[in-house]
Amino acid sequence: MAKGNANQKVNEWLRGRNGSDEISVFCLILALLFLIVNIFVKSIFFTVLAVALIGYSAFRMFSRNLEARENENAVFCEFLGPVRPWLRNPARAAAEAREYKHFKCPECGKRMRVPRGKGKIRIRCRECGNKFEARS
Ligand SMILES: [Zn+2]
Repeated sequence: MAKGNANQKVNEWLRGRNGSDEISVFCLILALLFLIVNIFVKSIFFTVLAVALIGYSAFRMFSRNLEARENENAVFCEFLGPVRPWLRNPARAAAEAREYKHFKCPECGKRMRVPRGKGKIRIRCRECGNKFEARS
């Protein structure tokens, strides 16, 4: 069988499935951590946890119930807050953290970012108009 044909089969099989999302990436990272811990601890508990997490992650990636998975992931992303970009694209998140500083509006809690290295600046919240000073 030609390689192109095999790829096509895989693509067809993946079509209409959820694919990787924040929850599945998070589960895989957690599973990896448990497996690393288990090298030292050697406990069935960590093995079972890691296998369960990998299983759940695979279930999400291959799930055809896109709406349910999307809703679950949205709730999870809300919960993650500023950690989210680190799961999505760690390299970009690191570059972003070098270039920008993130603030939370003391009035309404809206998150915003300003370029780093501008000294003490006045920030105006785009959400509620509140002004506050911060060091960038
Ligand atoms: Zn605000």
